[in-house]
Amino acid sequence: MEERYAFIAEWYDANASLTRRYQFLYFPSDNAIEMYDIKNRRIFLKRSKFEAIKPEQLFISSVINVHSRQLTLVDYADDFTRTKLTNRTERTLAIIKPDAVSKMGTILDIIANEGFSLCHVKMVRLSRKAAAEFYAEHTGKHFFDQLLDFMTSGPAVAIELMAPNCIRKWRQLIGPTNPAKAREESPGSIRAKFGTDGTRNACHGSDSPSSAEREIGFFFRRDHSNIAQFSNCTLGIIKPHAVASGLGGKIINEIQAKGFQISVLEMFFLERANGDEFLEVYKGVVSEYTQMVAQLCSGPCIAMEIVAENAPTEFREIVGPSDPEIARHLRPHTLRAMFGKDKIQNAVHCTDLPDDGVLEVEYFFRVLQN
Ligand code: UDP
Ligand code: MG
Repeated sequence: MEERYAFIAEWYDANASLTRRYQFLYFPSDNAIEMYDIKNRRIFLKRSKFEAIKPEQLFISSVINVHSRQLTLVDYADDFTRTKLTNRTERTLAIIKPDAVSKMGTILDIIANEGFSLCHVKMVRLSRKAAAEFYAEHTGKHFFDQLLDFMTSGPAVAIELMAPNCIRKWRQLIGPTNPAKAREESPGSIRAKFGTDGTRNACHGSDSPSSAEREIGFFFRRDHSNIAQFSNCTLGIIKPHAVASGLGGKIINEIQAKGFQISVLEMFFLERANGDEFLEVYKGVVSEYTQMVAQLCSGPCIAMEIVAENAPTEFREIVGPSDPEIARHLRPHTLRAMFGKDKIQNAVHCTDLPDDGVLEVEYFFRVLQN
Protein backbone atom coordinates (compact mmCIF):
# COMPACT_ATOMS: atom_id res chain seq x y z
CA MET A 1 0.00 0.00 0.00
CA GLU A 2 1.12 3.53 -0.67
CA GLU A 3 2.82 5.31 2.24
CA ARG A 4 0.63 8.01 3.75
CA TYR A 5 0.47 9.89 7.01
CA ALA A 6 -2.81 10.65 8.75
CA PHE A 7 -3.52 13.40 11.28
CA ILE A 8 -6.44 15.13 12.90
CA ALA A 9 -6.22 18.80 11.96
CA GLU A 10 -8.16 21.70 13.45
CA TRP A 11 -9.02 25.02 11.89
CA TYR A 12 -10.63 27.84 13.81
CA ASP A 13 -13.33 29.31 11.60
CA ALA A 14 -13.52 32.90 12.82
CA ASN A 15 -16.68 33.67 10.82
CA ALA A 16 -18.63 30.86 12.41
CA SER A 17 -16.72 31.09 15.74
CA LEU A 18 -16.12 27.38 15.82
CA THR A 19 -13.32 24.90 15.45
CA ARG A 20 -13.59 22.59 12.45
CA ARG A 21 -11.91 19.19 12.47
CA TYR A 22 -10.49 17.37 9.48
CA GLN A 23 -8.70 14.18 8.74
CA PHE A 24 -5.52 15.42 7.09
CA LEU A 25 -3.61 13.01 4.84
CA TYR A 26 -0.12 13.50 3.47
CA PHE A 27 1.31 11.41 0.62
CA PRO A 28 5.11 11.65 0.42
CA SER A 29 5.37 10.02 -3.04
CA ASP A 30 3.99 13.09 -4.79
CA ASN A 31 3.88 15.64 -1.96
CA ALA A 32 0.10 15.66 -2.02
CA ILE A 33 -2.49 16.24 0.67
CA GLU A 34 -6.13 15.33 1.09
CA MET A 35 -8.63 16.57 3.67
CA TYR A 36 -11.81 15.02 4.93
CA ASP A 37 -14.38 16.99 6.94
CA ILE A 38 -15.05 14.80 9.98
CA LYS A 39 -18.35 16.29 11.14
CA ASN A 40 -19.97 16.61 7.74
CA ARG A 41 -18.50 13.31 6.56
CA ARG A 42 -17.32 14.45 3.21
CA ILE A 43 -14.19 15.18 1.23
CA PHE A 44 -13.14 18.74 1.92
CA LEU A 45 -10.08 18.87 -0.33
CA LYS A 46 -9.48 16.27 -3.01
CA ARG A 47 -6.02 14.75 -3.13
CA SER A 48 -3.83 17.37 -4.74
CA LYS A 49 -0.19 18.33 -4.95
CA PHE A 50 0.84 20.84 -2.31
CA GLU A 51 4.36 22.05 -3.01
CA ALA A 52 4.57 24.28 0.04
CA ILE A 53 4.42 21.41 2.53
CA LYS A 54 7.57 19.68 3.74
CA PRO A 55 7.74 16.34 5.57
CA GLU A 56 9.46 18.15 8.48
CA GLN A 57 6.17 19.94 9.14
CA LEU A 58 4.43 16.71 10.05
CA PHE A 59 4.36 16.66 13.82
CA ILE A 60 1.81 17.19 16.57
CA SER A 61 1.13 20.91 17.21
CA SER A 62 2.58 21.89 13.82
CA VAL A 63 0.81 24.81 12.16
CA ILE A 64 0.31 24.50 8.41
CA ASN A 65 -1.23 27.04 6.06
CA VAL A 66 -3.42 25.42 3.43
CA HIS A 67 -5.09 27.79 0.98
CA SER A 68 -5.13 30.63 3.53
CA ARG A 69 -6.41 28.43 6.33
CA GLN A 70 -4.20 27.96 9.34
CA LEU A 71 -4.45 24.31 10.35
CA THR A 72 -3.01 22.82 13.52
CA LEU A 73 -2.17 19.12 13.58
CA VAL A 74 -3.63 18.08 16.93
CA ASP A 75 -3.31 14.29 16.88
CA TYR A 76 -2.30 11.26 14.87
CA ALA A 77 -5.18 9.62 13.04
CA ASP A 78 -3.73 6.11 12.76
CA ASP A 79 -1.18 3.81 14.37
CA PHE A 80 1.13 3.76 11.37
CA THR A 81 1.61 7.52 11.60
CA ARG A 82 1.95 7.43 15.39
CA THR A 83 4.58 4.67 15.35
CA LYS A 84 6.52 6.15 12.50
CA LEU A 85 6.64 9.72 13.81
CA THR A 86 6.59 9.53 17.62
CA ASN A 87 10.34 8.95 17.98
CA ARG A 88 11.35 11.08 15.07
CA THR A 89 9.49 14.07 16.49
CA GLU A 90 10.50 13.85 20.14
CA ARG A 91 10.38 17.23 21.90
CA THR A 92 12.31 18.78 24.76
CA LEU A 93 12.33 22.10 26.57
CA ALA A 94 15.55 24.07 26.29
CA ILE A 95 16.18 27.38 28.03
CA ILE A 96 18.87 29.86 27.18
CA LYS A 97 19.33 31.13 30.72
CA PRO A 98 19.83 34.82 31.58
CA ASP A 99 23.64 34.58 31.56
CA ALA A 100 23.68 33.37 27.95
CA VAL A 101 20.97 35.49 26.34
CA SER A 102 23.66 37.81 24.96
CA LYS A 103 24.97 34.72 23.07
CA MET A 104 21.58 33.45 21.94
CA GLY A 105 22.41 33.87 18.24
CA THR A 106 25.47 31.65 18.55
CA ILE A 107 23.60 29.09 20.64
CA LEU A 108 20.63 28.99 18.24
CA ASP A 109 23.10 28.46 15.41
CA ILE A 110 24.67 25.49 17.22
CA ILE A 111 21.14 24.12 17.75
CA ALA A 112 20.41 24.35 14.00
CA ASN A 113 23.75 22.83 13.01
CA GLU A 114 23.14 19.87 15.32
CA GLY A 115 19.92 19.06 13.47
CA PHE A 116 17.30 20.22 15.96
CA SER A 117 14.28 22.12 14.72
CA LEU A 118 12.49 24.89 16.56
CA CYS A 119 8.80 24.29 17.31
CA HIS A 120 8.31 27.32 19.53
CA VAL A 121 10.54 30.07 20.85
CA LYS A 122 9.66 32.73 23.37
CA MET A 123 11.68 35.19 25.41
CA VAL A 124 10.25 35.56 28.91
CA ARG A 125 11.18 37.07 32.21
CA LEU A 126 10.36 34.74 35.07
CA SER A 127 8.88 36.03 38.30
CA ARG A 128 10.24 34.49 41.50
CA LYS A 129 7.01 32.57 41.90
CA ALA A 130 7.20 31.17 38.36
CA ALA A 131 10.88 30.22 38.74
CA ALA A 132 10.12 28.45 42.04
CA GLU A 133 7.33 26.52 40.35
CA PHE A 134 9.51 25.57 37.40
CA TYR A 135 12.25 24.27 39.70
CA ALA A 136 9.87 22.86 42.37
CA GLU A 137 11.86 19.60 42.55
CA HIS A 138 14.77 21.57 44.07
CA THR A 139 12.75 23.35 46.78
CA GLY A 140 14.72 23.48 50.03
CA LYS A 141 18.08 22.52 48.52
CA HIS A 142 21.10 24.64 49.49
CA PHE A 143 21.34 26.24 46.05
CA PHE A 144 17.61 26.95 45.61
CA ASP A 145 17.62 30.68 46.52
CA GLN A 146 20.70 31.33 44.44
CA LEU A 147 19.09 29.52 41.52
CA LEU A 148 15.97 31.70 41.79
CA ASP A 149 18.07 34.88 42.02
CA PHE A 150 19.83 33.84 38.85
CA MET A 151 16.78 32.73 36.86
CA THR A 152 14.96 36.00 37.63
CA SER A 153 17.97 38.25 36.99
CA GLY A 154 17.02 38.94 33.37
CA PRO A 155 15.13 37.57 30.40
CA ALA A 156 15.57 33.96 29.33
CA VAL A 157 14.68 32.27 26.06
CA ALA A 158 12.49 29.17 26.19
CA ILE A 159 12.67 26.87 23.18
CA GLU A 160 10.67 23.79 22.29
CA LEU A 161 13.15 21.68 20.35
CA MET A 162 12.39 18.71 18.13
CA ALA A 163 14.68 15.95 16.86
CA PRO A 164 14.94 12.17 16.94
CA ASN A 165 15.98 11.23 20.47
CA CYS A 166 15.70 14.91 21.34
CA ILE A 167 15.77 14.80 25.15
CA ARG A 168 19.02 12.83 25.43
CA LYS A 169 20.61 14.51 22.44
CA TRP A 170 20.08 18.00 23.94
CA ARG A 171 21.30 16.99 27.42
CA GLN A 172 24.42 15.61 25.75
CA LEU A 173 24.97 18.78 23.76
CA ILE A 174 24.68 21.05 26.83
CA GLY A 175 26.94 18.78 28.90
CA PRO A 176 27.32 18.30 32.68
CA THR A 177 25.45 20.66 35.03
CA ASN A 178 28.65 22.20 36.37
CA PRO A 179 30.59 24.11 33.68
CA ALA A 180 33.96 23.33 35.34
CA LYS A 181 33.20 19.64 35.09
CA ALA A 182 31.88 20.18 31.55
CA ARG A 183 35.15 21.80 30.52
CA GLU A 184 37.01 18.69 31.72
CA GLU A 185 34.71 15.98 30.50
CA SER A 186 33.01 17.50 27.49
CA PRO A 187 34.92 20.58 26.30
CA GLY A 188 32.83 20.97 23.16
CA SER A 189 29.56 21.19 25.10
CA ILE A 190 27.49 24.36 25.45
CA ARG A 191 27.93 24.60 29.23
CA ALA A 192 31.70 24.15 28.81
CA LYS A 193 31.80 26.98 26.27
CA PHE A 194 29.27 29.43 27.69
CA GLY A 195 28.78 28.56 31.38
CA THR A 196 30.40 30.40 34.27
CA ASP A 197 29.82 28.46 37.50
CA GLY A 198 27.63 25.82 39.13
CA THR A 199 24.58 28.08 38.98
CA ARG A 200 25.18 30.20 35.88
CA ASN A 201 25.47 27.38 33.40
CA ALA A 202 24.00 28.91 30.20
CA CYS A 203 21.28 26.41 29.32
CA HIS A 204 18.59 24.12 30.65
CA GLY A 205 17.39 20.82 29.24
CA SER A 206 14.51 18.58 30.36
CA ASP A 207 15.70 15.34 31.94
CA SER A 208 12.87 12.95 30.93
CA PRO A 209 9.80 12.72 28.70
CA SER A 210 7.50 13.63 31.59
CA SER A 211 9.61 16.67 32.56
CA ALA A 212 9.71 17.71 28.90
CA GLU A 213 5.95 17.63 28.68
CA ARG A 214 5.45 19.57 31.91
CA GLU A 215 8.12 22.14 31.06
CA ILE A 216 6.90 22.73 27.49
CA GLY A 217 3.43 23.30 28.92
CA PHE A 218 4.84 25.68 31.51
CA PHE A 219 6.25 28.01 28.86
CA PHE A 220 4.03 27.52 25.83
CA ARG A 221 0.55 26.66 27.02
CA ARG A 222 -0.02 29.54 29.36
CA ASP A 223 0.46 33.30 29.44
CA HIS A 224 3.60 34.99 30.63
CA SER A 225 3.84 38.70 31.36
CA ASN A 226 4.61 40.94 28.42
CA ILE A 227 8.19 42.19 28.49
CA ALA A 228 8.18 44.37 25.38
CA GLN A 229 9.22 47.91 26.23
CA PHE A 230 7.44 49.69 23.32
CA SER A 231 9.89 52.61 23.23
CA ASN A 232 13.19 53.34 21.43
CA CYS A 233 12.43 50.26 19.44
CA THR A 234 11.84 48.83 16.01
CA LEU A 235 10.48 45.55 14.72
CA GLY A 236 12.62 42.91 13.05
CA ILE A 237 11.15 39.71 11.63
CA ILE A 238 13.16 36.70 10.53
CA LYS A 239 11.03 35.54 7.62
CA PRO A 240 9.66 32.00 7.36
CA HIS A 241 12.02 30.88 4.56
CA ALA A 242 15.02 31.89 6.70
CA VAL A 243 13.61 30.22 9.83
CA ALA A 244 12.94 27.05 7.81
CA SER A 245 16.52 27.02 6.49
CA GLY A 246 17.90 27.24 10.03
CA LEU A 247 19.33 30.75 9.53
CA GLY A 248 17.69 32.26 12.63
CA GLY A 249 20.75 31.85 14.87
CA LYS A 250 23.15 33.35 12.32
CA ILE A 251 20.88 36.36 11.76
CA ILE A 252 20.38 36.97 15.50
CA ASN A 253 24.11 36.60 16.02
CA GLU A 254 24.77 39.37 13.47
CA ILE A 255 22.18 41.63 15.10
CA GLN A 256 23.71 41.07 18.55
CA ALA A 257 27.27 41.41 17.26
CA LYS A 258 26.38 44.80 15.77
CA GLY A 259 25.38 46.05 19.22
CA PHE A 260 21.58 45.93 19.09
CA GLN A 261 19.64 44.73 22.10
CA ILE A 262 16.89 42.22 21.43
CA SER A 263 14.47 42.94 24.25
CA VAL A 264 11.73 40.51 23.21
CA LEU A 265 11.62 37.68 20.75
CA GLU A 266 8.97 35.15 19.87
CA MET A 267 8.03 32.72 17.14
CA PHE A 268 4.70 33.57 15.47
CA PHE A 269 2.45 31.75 13.02
CA LEU A 270 0.69 34.37 10.93
CA GLU A 271 -2.67 33.86 9.32
CA ARG A 272 -3.37 35.38 5.94
CA ALA A 273 -5.62 38.06 7.42
CA ASN A 274 -2.88 39.15 9.85
CA GLY A 275 -0.22 39.19 7.14
CA ASP A 276 -2.51 41.36 5.03
CA GLU A 277 -3.21 43.73 7.88
CA PHE A 278 0.43 44.02 8.92
CA LEU A 279 1.74 44.67 5.40
CA GLU A 280 -1.19 46.81 4.28
CA VAL A 281 0.92 49.96 3.83
CA TYR A 282 2.73 48.23 0.96
CA LYS A 283 -0.48 47.40 -0.91
CA GLY A 284 -0.54 49.19 -4.25
CA VAL A 285 2.96 50.54 -3.55
CA VAL A 286 5.12 47.46 -3.89
CA SER A 287 4.35 45.25 -6.90
CA GLU A 288 5.30 42.08 -5.01
CA TYR A 289 2.75 42.77 -2.25
CA THR A 290 0.76 39.53 -2.65
CA GLN A 291 3.89 37.38 -2.64
CA MET A 292 5.24 39.28 0.38
CA VAL A 293 2.11 38.41 2.34
CA ALA A 294 2.25 34.79 1.17
CA GLN A 295 5.89 34.52 2.29
CA LEU A 296 5.19 36.00 5.71
CA CYS A 297 2.36 33.50 6.26
CA SER A 298 4.10 30.46 4.76
CA GLY A 299 5.42 29.16 8.08
CA PRO A 300 6.70 30.23 11.48
CA CYS A 301 8.58 33.53 11.63
CA ILE A 302 10.55 35.03 14.51
CA ALA A 303 9.60 38.57 15.56
CA MET A 304 11.89 40.74 17.66
CA GLU A 305 11.67 44.05 19.44
CA ILE A 306 15.02 45.67 18.74
CA VAL A 307 16.15 48.46 21.00
CA ALA A 308 18.68 51.16 20.19
CA GLU A 309 18.87 54.89 19.84
CA ASN A 310 17.09 55.78 16.58
CA ALA A 311 16.28 52.08 16.37
CA PRO A 312 14.24 52.07 13.10
CA THR A 313 16.88 54.01 11.15
CA GLU A 314 19.89 52.25 12.65
CA PHE A 315 18.41 48.79 12.22
CA ARG A 316 17.37 49.51 8.62
CA GLU A 317 21.00 50.31 7.92
CA ILE A 318 22.16 46.83 8.84
CA VAL A 319 19.22 45.07 7.18
CA GLY A 320 20.09 46.68 3.84
CA PRO A 321 18.33 47.19 0.48
CA SER A 322 15.16 45.17 -0.04
CA ASP A 323 16.60 43.33 -3.05
CA PRO A 324 19.39 41.00 -1.87
CA GLU A 325 21.04 41.05 -5.34
CA ILE A 326 21.43 44.82 -5.11
CA ALA A 327 22.47 44.49 -1.47
CA ARG A 328 25.23 42.05 -2.40
CA HIS A 329 26.65 44.58 -4.84
CA LEU A 330 26.25 47.75 -2.83
CA ARG A 331 26.17 46.71 0.84
CA PRO A 332 27.67 43.18 1.13
CA HIS A 333 27.73 43.20 4.94
CA THR A 334 24.02 43.78 5.39
CA LEU A 335 21.69 41.02 6.58
CA ARG A 336 19.84 40.81 3.27
CA ALA A 337 23.09 40.59 1.30
CA MET A 338 24.25 37.75 3.55
CA PHE A 339 21.03 35.79 4.06
CA GLY A 340 18.49 36.89 1.41
CA LYS A 341 17.65 34.97 -1.75
CA ASP A 342 15.46 37.35 -3.72
CA LYS A 343 13.11 40.29 -3.22
CA ILE A 344 10.42 38.11 -1.62
CA GLN A 345 12.70 35.79 0.32
CA ASN A 346 14.91 38.58 1.60
CA ALA A 347 15.44 37.05 5.06
CA VAL A 348 14.47 39.96 7.29
CA HIS A 349 11.67 42.48 7.57
CA CYS A 350 12.40 45.78 9.28
CA THR A 351 10.20 48.77 10.04
CA ASP A 352 10.46 51.33 7.21
CA LEU A 353 9.47 54.62 8.78
CA PRO A 354 10.99 55.91 12.02
CA ASP A 355 7.52 56.72 13.37
CA ASP A 356 6.26 53.17 12.82
CA GLY A 357 8.77 51.35 15.03
CA VAL A 358 6.57 51.27 18.12
CA LEU A 359 3.42 50.58 16.07
CA GLU A 360 4.89 47.54 14.36
CA VAL A 361 6.23 46.16 17.65
CA GLU A 362 2.76 46.67 19.10
CA TYR A 363 1.16 44.77 16.23
CA PHE A 364 3.09 41.62 17.12
CA PHE A 365 3.55 41.93 20.86
CA ARG A 366 0.12 43.41 21.72
CA VAL A 367 -2.39 42.67 18.96
CA LEU A 368 -1.26 39.21 17.84
CA GLN A 369 -0.38 38.04 21.31
CA ASN A 370 -3.97 38.45 22.50
N1 UDP B 1 22.38 24.33 40.48
C1 UDP B 1 23.15 25.09 41.37
N2 UDP B 1 23.94 24.44 42.27
C2 UDP B 1 24.02 23.08 42.33
C3 UDP B 1 23.24 22.32 41.43
C4 UDP B 1 22.43 23.00 40.53
O1 UDP B 1 23.08 26.32 41.35
O2 UDP B 1 24.75 22.54 43.17
C5 UDP B 1 21.51 25.04 39.50
C6 UDP B 1 22.03 24.96 38.07
O3 UDP B 1 21.73 26.17 37.41
C7 UDP B 1 21.27 23.81 37.49
C8 UDP B 1 19.92 23.97 38.16
O4 UDP B 1 20.23 24.42 39.46
O5 UDP B 1 21.21 23.86 36.08
C9 UDP B 1 19.07 22.73 38.23
O6 UDP B 1 19.83 21.70 38.81
P1 UDP B 1 19.80 20.20 38.24
O7 UDP B 1 20.50 19.33 39.23
O8 UDP B 1 18.40 19.85 37.87
O9 UDP B 1 20.75 20.31 36.95
P2 UDP B 1 20.37 20.32 35.39
O10 UDP B 1 19.22 19.39 35.19
O11 UDP B 1 20.06 21.74 35.03
O12 UDP B 1 21.61 19.85 34.70
MG1 MG C 1 17.37 19.21 36.14
